[in-house]
Amino acid sequence: MSVTNQESAVKVYGNYINGEWVNSATGEVSESTNPANPSEVVGIIQKSSIEEVNEAFTAANDAHKSWSRLAAPTRGDYLLKVSNILEERLDEIALTMTKEMGKTFAEAKGEAARGVAILRYYAGEGMRSTGDVIPSSDSDALMFTKRTSLGVVGVITPWNFPIAIPIWKMAPALVYGNTVVLKPANETSVTAAKIVECFDQANLPKGVINLVTGSGAVIGDAMLANPHIKAVTFTGSNTVGKHIGRLAFDKGIKYQLEMGGKNPVIVAEDADLDLAVEATISGGLKSTGQKCTATSRVIVHEAVYEEFRKKLVEETAKITVGSGEDSSTWMGPCSSASQLETVLSYIEIGQQEGAELLQGGERVDREGYFVTPAIFDKVTPDMRIAREEIFGPVLGLMKVSSMEEAIELANDSEFGLSASIFTTNIQKMLTFINEMDAGLVRINAESAGVELQAPFGGMKQSSSHSREQGRAAIEFFTSIKTVFVK
Ligand code: NAP
Repeated sequence: MSVTNQESAVKVYGNYINGEWVNSATGEVSESTNPANPSEVVGIIQKSSIEEVNEAFTAANDAHKSWSRLAAPTRGDYLLKVSNILEERLDEIALTMTKEMGKTFAEAKGEAARGVAILRYYAGEGMRSTGDVIPSSDSDALMFTKRTSLGVVGVITPWNFPIAIPIWKMAPALVYGNTVVLKPANETSVTAAKIVECFDQANLPKGVINLVTGSGAVIGDAMLANPHIKAVTFTGSNTVGKHIGRLAFDKGIKYQLEMGGKNPVIVAEDADLDLAVEATISGGLKSTGQKCTATSRVIVHEAVYEEFRKKLVEETAKITVGSGEDSSTWMGPCSSASQLETVLSYIEIGQQEGAELLQGGERVDREGYFVTPAIFDKVTPDMRIAREEIFGPVLGLMKVSSMEEAIELANDSEFGLSASIFTTNIQKMLTFINEMDAGLVRINAESAGVELQAPFGGMKQSSSHSREQGRAAIEFFTSIKTVFVK
C-alpha cells in the first residue's frame, strides 16, 4: 500500500508495478493540490522514468499469458470484487476526486457510483462475451469466430472523469483477457492510485494491472515505444490524441482516441423553453463545463430567442460557485491554474471578436481557481469562441431563423461528439437524428450524458471512430479468429 511521508503527513502514492507499490527510482515526486484551495496538498505522486514504464510493461506482458487463459467468468468475478470494494470506499474516493480536480462532491459520488456500475456490467461480460457460429458451405465443417485478447493495453486518461474513464477502459480490457498499464492524468493521479488500490485489494494476480504516474510529455512516448504494447486507448485533447494515434499507426498497433468536442444545442421555436434552459445550464456548466460532451454552442430560433436568453441569464445568475466540498456549491473551480487562465483568455478573445458578454466570466475574489459562468450573445460561427474547445463554463448564443440554418450551424464544426435538440415536433426530431453529424444525438436531453451500456464516441475530429462502453468495447479490446474445423 502507499506510505505516509512522516514530515508532512501527506500520503505518498507509489507506482503499482507487478503487484507492488514502489516509489520511483528517480526520487522525484510532485504534489497534487486542491484547485479550490491550492495550498492544500492532496497527495504526493511519483515522477516516473522511462525505465519504470518499461518495468510496468514487462510485468503486464509476463502476466498476460495466465490472465488470458483464466476462464472469462473468473476474470469477471475479479471485477465484481473490485466493484464491491469501490462501493465500500465510494465516499472516500469521491472526496479525493473533489479535492483533486474540483468537481462537486455530489457529482463525484455520482461518478464513483458509475464506476461501480461499469465494473459490474463488465463482470457480467465475463459470461456474455461470445463469438458467432457461421454457416459453412461445407455441411461437414464447423465454422465459427473466436475472440482473443490483444495482450498489454496502454491506458492514458484525462483529469475530468478520473474515476469513470480509467474504469470504463480498464474493466473491458481486463475482462476480455488483456493486461493493463495505466498512465492517468498527472493532475488526478491520487484518485487513480486509489482506484488501483481497489484492484489490489481484490487480489488481482500480479502484473495484471499496473500504474505509472508522471508527466505524459516525459513518459508517454515510452509507452508507445515499448515492444510489449499491443493497443492504446486514450481520452484527452486532440493535440495529444493525434500524436498518440500517429505513433500507434506507425507501430501497427490498435488505437482508440476519444478527444474534444464543441457541442451544440438547438432550441427550436416549439421547444419547452424551461426544459431547454435547465438542460443548457446543466449540460454546459456542470463540472465547470469541463466535460467533453459539455454544451458550448446554443443555437436558438429567433421566435423564442429573447425569452430563452432572458431565462438563461436569470437562471445562470443563481448558480453558486465555490468549493465542491461545500454542499451549497453548484459549480466548483476550474481544475487548475492553467485551465482558469485558458477560460479567462477565451472570455477576452470573445469580447475582442465582437461577441457580447451578457454575464459572468469573472475571476472570483478568493483563493482557488474560480470563475463565474459566462454567457456570450451575438456569437458568429467564424469566432474562435464558436470553433475552439474552451473546456470551461462558457456558453455562446447564436440566433437562427430556420431549422435548416440551425443544423447547418450545428454541423459547422471540426468536432462531432454530442448534440442536442429541444423541440416538440417529431419531424424536427427526425431531421436532427438524420442530419446531425455527432456520435451522441440527444432529443430533449442535455448534450452531456450517456448510459454506460450504450456505445460512446464521436465523429469527425472528436474520435478515432471506434466506440467505447457497452457491447461496443469488445470490438476494440479483442481480436477475432475465424475458425474452420473439418
Ligand atoms: P490531455 O492534456 O490531452 O491529457 C490526456 C492524457 O494524456 C493525460 O494523462 C496526459 O498526461 C497524457 N499525455 C500528455 N502528453 C502525452 C504524450 N506526449 N504522450 C502520451 N500521453 C500524454 O487532456 P486533458 O487536459 O487531461 O483532458 C481534457 C481533454 O480531454 C479535453 O480536450 C476533453 O474534450 C477531452 N476529453 C474527451 C473525452 C471523450 O470521451 N471524447 C472525455 C473526457 C475528456 P499529463 O496529465 O501528465 O499531461
